Amino acid sequence: MKYYGGIEAGGTKFICGVSDLECNIIEKVSFPTTTPEETMNHVLGFFSRFAKEDIVAIGIACFGPIVVDKSSPLHGTITSTPKLAWQNFPLLSFMQTHFLCPIEINTDVNGSATGEFCFGAGRNTKDLVYFTVGTGIGAGIIINGKIAKASEVGHIPTKKHPRDTYEGKCPFHKDFCLEGLAAGPSIEERWNVKSARELEATHLAWEMEAYYLAQAVLSIHLTLSPDKVILGGGVMGQPHLLPMVRKFFKTLDNGYFVSREKNIDDFIVTPEIEEVSGLIGSFCFARDAHKNK
Ligand code: ADP
Ligand code: ZN
Repeated sequence: MKYYGGIEAGGTKFICGVSDLECNIIEKVSFPTTTPEETMNHVLGFFSRFAKEDIVAIGIACFGPIVVDKSSPLHGTITSTPKLAWQNFPLLSFMQTHFLCPIEINTDVNGSATGEFCFGAGRNTKDLVYFTVGTGIGAGIIINGKIAKASEVGHIPTKKHPRDTYEGKCPFHKDFCLEGLAAGPSIEERWNVKSARELEATHLAWEMEAYYLAQAVLSIHLTLSPDKVILGGGVMGQPHLLPMVRKFFKTLDNGYFVSREKNIDDFIVTPEIEEVSGLIGSFCFARDAHKNK
């Protein structure tokens, strides 16, 4: 049997798997991200269970920042991560020294976006933007079936809620930044709680959160007009948040969007395969690498 290999390389844990050539998961394992040496040993250990010639291509969806520019000599290298042991780790070339098959690498959020695009909430669309709202905010952009450049949409300028006095958590943009105002740690610092999940559904925190996320969706809509915007990540684990984002989106857009006859419930959605979107996205990267070989 022939397989695609996939690695979802996260800052907290790695998930490795193999799929059939339709990207259906056959096997997967996960282990904590420790040092590159130890972690990559686990990766090699997992893949050594399969004959090398049966793995036809490998895809990697990796935490960043990583160099995705294929013309750069540093292609596939992790750069200025706060995880110091991983700084300047050449993940792609490490894998290339162990495997002769084609290997494709992209960012973790582009992996999730691709997984959702091919097999989740974004199937049957041509383009989508996938936001992950967690420890940080990142976005993967797919236009006409292709990943756009790695984006920094997570730091998009954001207007403050009239009742928000929080100074903002982004070291660069302070309170004029989506991530600085709306990522999990900023909610937690603003309201002085250990986890955002402690805040009740009626708490003002969620009105602010929805206001900020709705602005981001509006900006994306006005810039790219994608078929869908998918909001994922830990913070979206609050089921009341999605309807509030849709409501604010309508208020802020003030009828402009509606006139284009898109159904907002189909436009702003949550992920369908969130648990495995990154891994499945990495299989899709492998599939591309195999086809383009
Ligand atoms: P990461 O971004 O590190 O991959 P997550 O997407 O789980 O991980 O995001 C972590 C952030 O999301 C933390 O700030 C955490 O408190 C917050 N979070 C996780 N689960 C929930 C939840 N159910 N409701 C609200 N906030 C949550
Ligand atoms: Zn910022």
